Amino acid sequence: MTTIFSKIVKGEIPADIVYQDETVTAFKDINPIAPVHILIVPNKEIATVNDVTPDDEQMLGHLFIVAQKIAADLGIGGSGYRLLINCGSDGGQEVFHIHMHLLGGRKLGPMLAK
Ligand code: AMP
Repeated sequence: MTTIFSKIVKGEIPADIVYQDETVTAFKDINPIAPVHILIVPNKEIATVNDVTPDDEQMLGHLFIVAQKIAADLGIGGSGYRLLINCGSDGGQEVFHIHMHLLGGRKLGPMLAK
């Protein structure tokens, strides 16, 4: 099934893209919860972390390199940031195309609401 993120990757629907290469696309979250809220998405559609295979290892490692670059470009590399991947229902995943949230620009507080 084609997700909304696949459509963004292919340029079929608009998004505020901050980075794109042959394996990864990153764009601003439409409903940001922090001053910096970027979604880093593999161009390959993988539904959840449960669907990752060993063939994806290198590509998924690249997400971290891209996150580091975007954080530096946006001036939050030094102050710090949070990388978050939700999986499935209890994880709060809404879009079933793996994505890493890059959050920063303020103190983010504890990792989870109690
Ligand atoms: P998750 O709950 O981890 O699946 O996160 C999905 C994220 O996608 C949410 O933070 C949404 O605000 C964001 N989102 C949904 N549709 C779009 C879109 N068209 N462009 C940018 N971000 C989106």
